[in-house]
Amino acid sequence: MSAPRVPTPVTARVEGWGMAVGGVAQVLQPTSVEEIRAALAQAHAAQQKIALRGAGCSYGDASCGTGKLVLDFTRFNRILDFDAQTGVIRVEAGATIGDIWQHVLPHGWWPPVVSGTMAPTLGGAVAMNIHGKNAYRVGPIGEHVLRLRVLLVDGSERTLLPDDPLFPAIIGGFGELAVITEVELQLKHIYSGQLDVDALCGGNLAEIFAIFDDWQDRSDYLVAWIDGFASGKSLGRGLVHMAHQLAPGVDPQPQALMTVAAQTLPSRLFGLIPKSWMWALLWPFSFNLGMRFVNLVKFWSARLLEHGKRYRQGHAAFHFLLDYVPNWKWAYKPGGLIQHQIFVPKAQAQRVFAEVFALQHRYGLPTWLAVMKRHRPDRFLLTHGLDGYSMAQDFAVTKRNRQKLWQLCHEVDGIVTAAGGRFYFAKDATLEPESVLAAWPKENLMQFAALREELDPGGLLATDLYERAVAPALRKLV
Ligand SMILES: Cc1cc2nc3c(=O)[nH]c(=O)nc-3n(C[C@H](O)[C@H](O)[C@H](O)COP(=O)(O)OP(=O)(O)OC[C@H]3O[C@@H](n4cnc5c(N)ncnc54)[C@H](O)[C@@H]3O)c2cc1C
Repeated sequence: MSAPRVPTPVTARVEGWGMAVGGVAQVLQPTSVEEIRAALAQAHAAQQKIALRGAGCSYGDASCGTGKLVLDFTRFNRILDFDAQTGVIRVEAGATIGDIWQHVLPHGWWPPVVSGTMAPTLGGAVAMNIHGKNAYRVGPIGEHVLRLRVLLVDGSERTLLPDDPLFPAIIGGFGELAVITEVELQLKHIYSGQLDVDALCGGNLAEIFAIFDDWQDRSDYLVAWIDGFASGKSLGRGLVHMAHQLAPGVDPQPQALMTVAAQTLPSRLFGLIPKSWMWALLWPFSFNLGMRFVNLVKFWSARLLEHGKRYRQGHAAFHFLLDYVPNWKWAYKPGGLIQHQIFVPKAQAQRVFAEVFALQHRYGLPTWLAVMKRHRPDRFLLTHGLDGYSMAQDFAVTKRNRQKLWQLCHEVDGIVTAAGGRFYFAKDATLEPESVLAAWPKENLMQFAALREELDPGGLLATDLYERAVAPALRKLV
């Protein structure tokens, strides 16, 4: 049998989701394992580096491959198997979280872990080991993977079960050890198309932490929006949402809202304004004073209208609200945005977050959107998970602020690593090798370097993120 022909790559600009970093690459969209294998072999022969890419939802350069071959898996996306009795699903790496929930919801199942958008592919989600608003309860997605199928750079295929030593390295291995071709995932049973959601405002960071402490044992999902502009006694004020799955029997008509149509939000705001216009409505506020106003209005409207209330919300609306505002990131044009998510151990988190907000104010670069979550430790080799909290912060990038913003992130990284914290490659555009060395235990980085040497001795797999931050760190280890 002759080897499949590798289609001709297309030259295109490949950016991170935030549009602030990226570059021109050769892009291929394989549709089968054979095509991926042939592309690996051809790139190897041509000594061309490869960057693996799912839906490109990582904010920074994690799936960018400037001057390289980018393998984009979005057309390698079949759902291969689903057992409605056991809730086990097997998909090709390019199937998205959206493809999965829409397939399984009518049978009473939901993905165990989802990100704030349904666009990521399962390959990308597993390669980054994504977390949801339930990270403190169920860990990252890797804890729900039953089996992985991977294609190694030498063209061989392996099936990995959770007890395989490679399993915790490839999950969260950010596409630098092997190509994930298939994922088998255990889904979560649900008994309604809706969740019960409680909303509480906290007037400052101490109150937000107190709400998390109070609710974490009795909520399935916890997330806080924080007003990054508030200062003084209000520093870190925000709105916390606690969501609870409905127990069996609570919803008298569980099937009624377990349909894709019932979960889909209207495309118009107040029945009038197309949501596709909303990014343009936000755009005039896209400067510090405008965003201060947006955050202020959000806080006070939450305090007046939502605080202390309980309501029911569909799963898709609770998890993916921003997906229903098409292209909202365009409000950050022309420079785009970066997200910087810091993870800090429990005992230090409140102090570090306060210090970081105050530092941003001193720089004149307050975050326009900040989101806090609770996490727990896990067994993955280069995990971002720890017993603590994360704060994800969006920053607009402009030609004028770029250098200062990067400098701010580096200063924040120093504060975070001094407190024993970590970072998340999916949300990174600025990390320096020194911070990689300070954030992860040396033995984990050594083990990762050894696995790379064993699985990809020629260094074929190399995203822009890897070359910018991780490869130089690994070189410093020896
Ligand atoms: C609006 C928004 C909200 C988000 N919310 C969250 C959140 O709540 N929690 C969270 O954890 N993340 C969140 N993210 C980040 C997102 O979930 C991750 O970046 C995820 O990895 C994106 O998946 P992707 O398919 O787009 O992969 P990409 O971003 O294209 O790639 C991610 C990584 O996976 C590697 N990769 C891709 N496919 C494969 C494969 N088949 N085999 C091996 N490696 C591969 C790439 O090389 C890269 O390192 C959010 C992103 C956005 C834009």
